[in-house]
Amino acid sequence: MTENDSHYFWINGDFVDKKSANISVLTHSLHYSGAVFEGEKAYNGKIFKLSEHTNRLLDSAKSMMLDVPYNFDDIILAHKQLIEKNNISDAYIRPLIWRGAESMNIVNSSLSVNLMIAFVKSSPRSNDNLKLRITTWKKPSSDSFPTQCKSSAHYAMGVVAGIESRNLGYDGALFLDHKGCVAECATSNIFFVHNKFLITPVADTFLNGITRQTIIAIAKNLGIDVIEKHIAPTEIAYYDECFVTGTAVEVNGVHSIYYGIKDKIFEQNEITTILMQEYQKLVRL
Ligand code: PMP
Repeated sequence: MTENDSHYFWINGDFVDKKSANISVLTHSLHYSGAVFEGEKAYNGKIFKLSEHTNRLLDSAKSMMLDVPYNFDDIILAHKQLIEKNNISDAYIRPLIWRGAESMNIVNSSLSVNLMIAFVKSSPRSNDNLKLRITTWKKPSSDSFPTQCKSSAHYAMGVVAGIESRNLGYDGALFLDHKGCVAECATSNIFFVHNKFLITPVADTFLNGITRQTIIAIAKNLGIDVIEKHIAPTEIAYYDECFVTGTAVEVNGVHSIYYGIKDKIFEQNEITTILMQEYQKLVRL
């Protein structure tokens, strides 16, 4: 697949050439957000954990009260057709469900619910040595927002905190939750290693990522003890290794985190490297 190849996106049951895959400027979800989406990755023509992503997409839609006219089987089939039609081997795949442009009212029964599945070339990780900074923006509590929901409504924070971090010379933002505990990054979950233990925040106010769950399972299989706990930002100073996980970034090593006092620099990456290698084996099985 090259950038010049024709790409066909799946939109409401039809294949549409990428160049004409456009929507109206009056699109409800553009103005009021509330779209839901997934980020998936195909390896050798097969989407890793497609069922899990599809279930999460439908759960997110339910949280955002989107009455999706497609069921689980329809969405799986649409993905398979997309792969075949475009002869995809490796790609990042983006299904999105959104409200249409039929009305500018916040609530209106004429609003359509649409599904599209697009894809882009999956780029290799650009940076395995991330420099993160804790942002002053906090993740909301789960009674302010359905925290397991992948909605565009939630990502405005990631965009703002991401730009803020870049402007300050960092690669990305690390969020604390509303109680001041370490939560997640803009599009990834975080892990630490200390004395050979794998430590990660409890996923009670942020996305319990599919990659996060996969890494925990891999670690347990390898006999690595996994501790899920609430982590105060100052604890970061004591940890040995750090990495982030996500479908797009996979397992990405962290060089340092500014945790409010200074940059903590992580020294070794023995367990990170093992988990990276095992994850790469698994996605290509
Ligand atoms: N947190 C956020 C906010 C994300 O956007 C993502 C990427 N989907 C993740 C964590 C990691 O989730 P996953 O491993 O399911 O891709």
